[in-house]
Amino acid sequence: MNPGQIWCVGRNYAEHAKELGNDLPTEPLIFLKAGSCLTKGAPLQIPSWVSDLHHELEIALLFGPELQFSALGLALDLTERSLQSRLKSKGQPWTLAKSFHGACPISDLIPLRSEALKDLRLELRVNGVLRQKGSSSEMIFSPETLRAFVLKHFPVRPGDLLLTGTPAGVGVIEPGDELEGQLFQEGRKILQMRWNRP
Ligand code: ZN
Repeated sequence: MNPGQIWCVGRNYAEHAKELGNDLPTEPLIFLKAGSCLTKGAPLQIPSWVSDLHHELEIALLFGPELQFSALGLALDLTERSLQSRLKSKGQPWTLAKSFHGACPISDLIPLRSEALKDLRLELRVNGVLRQKGSSSEMIFSPETLRAFVLKHFPVRPGDLLLTGTPAGVGVIEPGDELEGQLFQEGRKILQMRWNRP
């Protein structure tokens, strides 16, 4: 892969913002993961110093040649939650907790029809148990609103990704866990991705 940058959105689903004790944002809360965090394939490749590893399943959108969204997929915004909490409490940046080696596993991307960003639903199961589910209709800021916001403020380039935030249900990934992400459009499954933590 030759990844661009990964523009991420925090707290874009109200239930998730509440579960981490955060107020709802009045404008998009954007942070970066380095493009070199991207990994393909099932085994999660996590540095040994990462202990409190959390899953955040998200809809990922690819910026195409004209900076329109050109493809979509599923990504894990992997997070070292204890570290993030400590950094947040000190008012420090989250980079250490969000941008470590292997912090952004991603599925294959599927080409997007222009009208195709409506009625998307995502689900994450860990060891067969449903942990996260959400729908694009529950996003506080729609993909188009996020797109306009990041294009206004940041040097976005074709090939960059936008991660659109995670629904409620984030939790720990233990060694040996099997993860399955699914993406549905208008009730029809369009994507499935399995990961495991060795
Ligand atoms: Zn996230």
